[in-house]
Amino acid sequence: MYDLVLKGGRVVDPASDLDGVLDVAIENGLIARVAAAIAPAETARVIEVGGAIVTPGLIDLHAHVFEGVNRTGVNPDLGGVYSGVTTIVDAGSAGAATFGGWRHILPHCHTEIIPFLHICQTGLATLPDIIAESSINLADTVKVATQHPDLIRGIKARMVSPALEIMGMEMPKLAKRAAREAGIKLMVHIGDTEKRYDPKVIHPLLALLEPGDILTHYFTPNPGGVLDGNGKLVPEAREAADRGVWFDTAHGRMNFSFDVGRRIIDQGLLPHCISTDLTVPGRQMTVHSMTEMMTRFLGLGFTLPQVVTMSTANPARAIGAEQRLGRLAVGRQADVSVLDLEDGAWVVYDILGAPLRVDRAFAPRLTVKKGRVFTPDFGPRPWGWWPDRAITGGCC
Ligand SMILES: [Zn+2]
Repeated sequence: MYDLVLKGGRVVDPASDLDGVLDVAIENGLIARVAAAIAPAETARVIEVGGAIVTPGLIDLHAHVFEGVNRTGVNPDLGGVYSGVTTIVDAGSAGAATFGGWRHILPHCHTEIIPFLHICQTGLATLPDIIAESSINLADTVKVATQHPDLIRGIKARMVSPALEIMGMEMPKLAKRAAREAGIKLMVHIGDTEKRYDPKVIHPLLALLEPGDILTHYFTPNPGGVLDGNGKLVPEAREAADRGVWFDTAHGRMNFSFDVGRRIIDQGLLPHCISTDLTVPGRQMTVHSMTEMMTRFLGLGFTLPQVVTMSTANPARAIGAEQRLGRLAVGRQADVSVLDLEDGAWVVYDILGAPLRVDRAFAPRLTVKKGRVFTPDFGPRPWGWWPDRAITGGCC
């Protein structure tokens, strides 16, 4: 007897080669069966999800949920299971000196949180993060990371001023060293939001990244992005992708441009992962939700299977959790997202205010985390989850 069957949805799980109307059976927190027409008599509970898209649990590879410690940290479940997301990588909200704050947060959330540790010892508690060489304590960073091997999967570094002005490439090199000594990966934020440092820093930075490392803010319009002055991808970007560096688009309030994205897409080096870089103000104004990130990529011309892969299987692989997460295969953790995908006329905006008309949009309908069912929150906008309505005959 199954605990739960999600019945009649369109299962889209490219990693399992599934796309069709199928039922998903869950037992003891694991996926027990994916098949057509599982009999109601075989399960304790049925939830009808006809008309919805059923995907592996969404993984947000870059968000900020250090709630109560950092002022802009979103409540983990608000950005997680109440937004259709089952796993969140917290991208360096905490550093070695503040990491202990997680023990007051993690036991109380249903969403799985995987914290990356900031190379700045106070993390993002105050901005700017690195204000002197003493902002980094390499020994402490390695110690905290190695003390929590099951939790911390990466080190985070931000290629911004004043850190770069003070330390130059020494800063990401120290972060790489910490990651190497702790046996975990490096995630690097590109795009100098202060616009003060030499954009050519992208060349040695990309050369520093090893297979499995993650570059985040791939579509940033800020100096230090992957496009040169002529709009061409720097050669190191393709070399990095070829050797297995992950490219993630993390939207955020300052690092996502449709124009940059289109130029990159036109040159054929597609991102692997899409994520929010969610913060409290970002949720209200610019970023909104993981499902909206998926909407944006449909609007940029990606197919539904591509968008699902970039939100499930690829981030699972990027964090080394592909044996457990990112697929609806029997025996995997029962993390499932049930999404509405509606036709309509909407417009979404990047951080520069550039509009993109979209005629399909996602919203979360139901989230299943380790077999437990959560109903999403009302949504980040006054009217819920959907983007702004497009005005007929309007601009874009
Ligand atoms: Zn971030």
